Amino acid sequence: MLRSSNLIRQYKISCTRKLKNVRNYSNDATSVPKQADVVIIGGGVIGCSTLYHLTRKGVKAILLEQAKITSGTTWHTAGLFWRLRPNDVEVQLLRGTKNVLDSLEEETGVNPGFIQNGGLFIARTEERVQEYQRLHTLGHFFGIESQMLTPQETVRLAPVLNGNNFTAALYSPGDGCVDPSMLCSALIKGATAKGGKVYENCPVTNILTDPSSGVTKIVGVETPSGTINTKCVVNAAGAWSRKFPNMISLDIPLSPMKHAYIVTESIPEVKNMPNVRDHDASVYFRIQGDAICIGGYENNPVLLKEVPSDFQFSLYELDHSIFDVHMQKATELCPALQTAGIKSTVCGPESFTPDHKPIMGEDPRVGGLFYICGFNSAGMMLSGGCAEQMATWIIKGRPELPMFAYDIRRFTPSMRNARSWTIETSHESYVKNYSVVYPHDQFLSGRNFKIGPFHEVRFQYVNTIIIISVKRI
Ligand SMILES: Cc1cc2nc3c(=O)[nH]c(=O)nc-3n(C[C@H](O)[C@H](O)[C@H](O)COP(=O)(O)OP(=O)(O)OC[C@H]3O[C@@H](n4cnc5c(N)ncnc54)[C@H](O)[C@@H]3O)c2cc1C
Repeated sequence: MLRSSNLIRQYKISCTRKLKNVRNYSNDATSVPKQADVVIIGGGVIGCSTLYHLTRKGVKAILLEQAKITSGTTWHTAGLFWRLRPNDVEVQLLRGTKNVLDSLEEETGVNPGFIQNGGLFIARTEERVQEYQRLHTLGHFFGIESQMLTPQETVRLAPVLNGNNFTAALYSPGDGCVDPSMLCSALIKGATAKGGKVYENCPVTNILTDPSSGVTKIVGVETPSGTINTKCVVNAAGAWSRKFPNMISLDIPLSPMKHAYIVTESIPEVKNMPNVRDHDASVYFRIQGDAICIGGYENNPVLLKEVPSDFQFSLYELDHSIFDVHMQKATELCPALQTAGIKSTVCGPESFTPDHKPIMGEDPRVGGLFYICGFNSAGMMLSGGCAEQMATWIIKGRPELPMFAYDIRRFTPSMRNARSWTIETSHESYVKNYSVVYPHDQFLSGRNFKIGPFHEVRFQYVNTIIIISVKRI
C-alpha cells in the first residue's frame, strides 16, 4: 500500500564503508578555467557520459565534481544493462548506450567493463507473458535478439531457478552488466583525448544568472577556486540535482530515495548464469562471479529529504525489515537462497520522478540551464543513449529522438514546485518500477493536484449515476 507523504520515514545516516585509495582523474581544482562552453556538474556515469558525447561533437566542455569521479550513486550501482523496455524511444536509448560500450575499448584502449552474460525476464502471470511477447516483437523490430522460453528451457540456462514458480521467460542474450568505475574511466579517457577537462574536489557553490535582457540566462558558476563564465550549465548531479535550481529559487520534481541490494555468499551453480528480472515479484538478480546481488522495489521505500554533500563513497545501513520482502520472493524463485548467507549489503541514494522518466532538456525558466537527472534506477543503462541526446539537444536546440517524455517542459510550472505532489507520485514510481506498463496508465497518487473547471459538476453527475445504478440493482 502506498504511504502518504506525511508519513515519510527519515533514517539516520550511517556509513557502513568508505572507499579508500580512489583513482585520481582530474586537473588541479585550484586552477579552474575562467570560461567554458559548457560546465557539467557531477562526475557520475551521467556527467562522464555527457562530457564524452559533447567533446566528441567538438564542444569545449568541462566537468566539475564536488568529490571524486563515481563517488555519488554510480560507484555502488548494480550495473545491470537490459536492452528491452516497453517503449520504442527507450529501446533506442539503450542501443545508444550499447554502441558506446561496444566501441569504447577500441577508441580509448580502456575496457569499459561490460560483461555480456545475457538477461532473463521471468513471467509469473499470463498478463506478464503478454507483455514479454510485446517486448519480443518490439525488440525484433529494432534488431534486438530475444526469445520466449518455457520454464524447462529457462532452467537449462539458469539451473538454480525453480521452474514450477513461473510460466515463461524472455531471454535476451545481449544483455549484461557494467562495472561503473571501468566505464567512467573509459569515458573520461575518451573525453579528455578530445579536449574535455575534469576537475575533482571542485564543488559548484552557486549558479550565476543574468535577467537584464528580460529572459533569465545562465552566465556562470561559482566554485571555491573561482568563477567560471559560461552560457551553458548541465545539471548531472543525480540525487543532489535539486540543489542547483534551488540556488536560484527554482525547483524540479525529483525525490531521492534509498534503494538497496544484498550480495550472497558463494552459490557455485550461478557462475555464468544470465541476470534475472522477476517483474511480478519486483526483484532482480545480478550475477557476480559465483554470488548473486539481489535487489528489488518494495512498497515502502525510505524517502530522503536530501542527501548530504559529504555523502561520498558512502552507504546507508540496510533496514532488513523493509528488504526482507524481496528475500522471500527471491527464495521462491531460487530455493538455494534458503541456505546461502549474505556477504554484504549495498544501500544508497537514487532519484525518482513523478512519472518514472528522467528529467532532461533546457529549463524554460532559465536559458542555458540543462538537466540530465532523475534516472529512476536506470541511470547506468540509459547513460550513453541519454547523454548522446543531451549533447545534440545542447548543440542543435533539440534532440534527435522524440524525447518529450523526458523533457522538463512536460511538467507545468506548478508541478515543478509542488513538493508533496512530487514525493507522493515519485514514491509510486518507485513502487511501480516493475509493473506492467499500460498505455495511458493513471497514477493513484497525487490525485486532484489540478482539476478542470467542470470537475465538481462531472463528479456529482458520475456519483448520481452510480447511486441510481446501485438502487436499481
Ligand atoms: C543500489 C542501486 C542499484 C542500482 N542498480 C542499477 C542497475 O542495475 N542498472 C541501472 O541502469 N541503474 C542502476 N541504478 C541507478 C544508477 O546507478 C544511477 O541512476 C546512476 O548511477 C546515477 O548516476 P548520476 O551520474 O546521475 O549520479 P551520481 O553518480 O550520484 O553522480 C552525481 C555526482 O554529482 C556530484 N555533485 C553533487 N553536488 C555537487 C556540487 N555541488 N558540485 C559538483 N558536483 C556535485 C556528486 O558528488 C556525484 O558524484 C542503481 C542505483 C542504486 C542506488
